[in-house]
Amino acid sequence: MNSLLTGGRVIDPANRIDQVADLLISDGKIKAIGPGAASQAPGDVERMDVAGLVVCPGLIDLHVHLREPGQTAKETIATGTAAAARGGFTSVVCMPNTSPTIDNSGTFALIHERAAKQGVVNVFVAGAITKGIAGEELAPIGSLKRAGVVAITDDGHCVQNNEIMRRALEYAKMFDLPVMDHCQDYSLVTDGVMHEGYWSTALGLRGWPVAGEEMIVARNILLAEMTGARVHCQHISTAGSVKLLREAKRRSVPVSGEACPHHFTLTDVAIAGSEKFWKTDGKELFAGVSEHPTWPAYDTNFKMNPPLRSAEDREAILEGIVDGTLEIICSDHAPHCDYEKEVEFDSAPFGITGLESELALSLMQFFHTKRLGLPDLIAKFTVAPARLLGLAKGTLSIGADADVTVFDADQEWVFDKTSSASKSGNSPFDGWRLKGKAMATIVSGRKVWAEEVEISAT
Ligand SMILES: [Zn+2]
Repeated sequence: MNSLLTGGRVIDPANRIDQVADLLISDGKIKAIGPGAASQAPGDVERMDVAGLVVCPGLIDLHVHLREPGQTAKETIATGTAAAARGGFTSVVCMPNTSPTIDNSGTFALIHERAAKQGVVNVFVAGAITKGIAGEELAPIGSLKRAGVVAITDDGHCVQNNEIMRRALEYAKMFDLPVMDHCQDYSLVTDGVMHEGYWSTALGLRGWPVAGEEMIVARNILLAEMTGARVHCQHISTAGSVKLLREAKRRSVPVSGEACPHHFTLTDVAIAGSEKFWKTDGKELFAGVSEHPTWPAYDTNFKMNPPLRSAEDREAILEGIVDGTLEIICSDHAPHCDYEKEVEFDSAPFGITGLESELALSLMQFFHTKRLGLPDLIAKFTVAPARLLGLAKGTLSIGADADVTVFDADQEWVFDKTSSASKSGNSPFDGWRLKGKAMATIVSGRKVWAEEVEISAT
């Protein structure tokens, strides 16, 4: 399929391109950008008028739970990647805490095969650090690498034994794999369900202290420095973690960090209900929006791991993203069935969906608030994750795979979980008026999703 996208604002941070230009896609590759693109287009080219829209490298989300195999009541490769396409993502990295876990090349092959048949977007796979994600014995990291994993992580869990983590880093370095870590010290967090602070006391819920994350971030920095292996800290939620990473990066320790929209938008007050949130930490959020969505106290769609933190932590995450300490934004898309979430706050599983609200929330908190320009924001979804994982993605270089996202930075819309492509609706942002929307998602030159028109995978 050949297409010519005309008149859009083409932004490719990897090549420092930011200009109104035409983009020609031919045979699944980027063929030309700029004044010459139209003249090179073959006669049968499909033209898309994208004037007023942003055209950028296909967005990458490196932290997604697709739940297949084993938990397909929550999500499947087909539905999870359809949600990714709607959110403007052309590539996702799926986490290994499936059933069975992705701790061997056989499970990798199964996912790879299903993703090729049923995936709407590119699916890259993260393998486990330890067998069964149990934290006790290393997974066969070399054979996972040969199979094709792009990183290893025990996400959902955290390797507690420092000696095992050290050996994992040494192996990962030999195989040039980044190690991604869900930073949680079990002895400090115990059975905490929300941020430890005023609101956990007021609501009578068990606290998950900030030190429970920072302890492992500090451990990871020390081990990265000692081994020279690359460690990527997942879903950073606390001000202390941002500070630790900032100082370590200044010393050139090979560490990196990511943050999720819920952590830079919401705070723990949200668990006390919408009225309290909008009166306090939500007061200045999305200025100019008159209608505020409502939700009750103890709403389990505000329960995730790590939990929503204080306003100071949220501010530190925003700053960390702006100054580059946190170079990647991702969703931690974690679908759960309604019946699982419709229980007491204590018993509900951690996690929320995020693929379809991620781009808008990022635009609202960074671009519309003038914290970051579009090229810097787009880099966090494209060149930065591609570089970390060594993917030949995240750029519009001539000859690159034609993974392209077209979005409208200003379009307002209401996120409605009932019209989501995900199998699950556990989002705290259901009913929120958002600003910024993906309009078309193109994978290897093929339009896999466009506003109004949905094109199914083959
Ligand atoms: Zn996690």
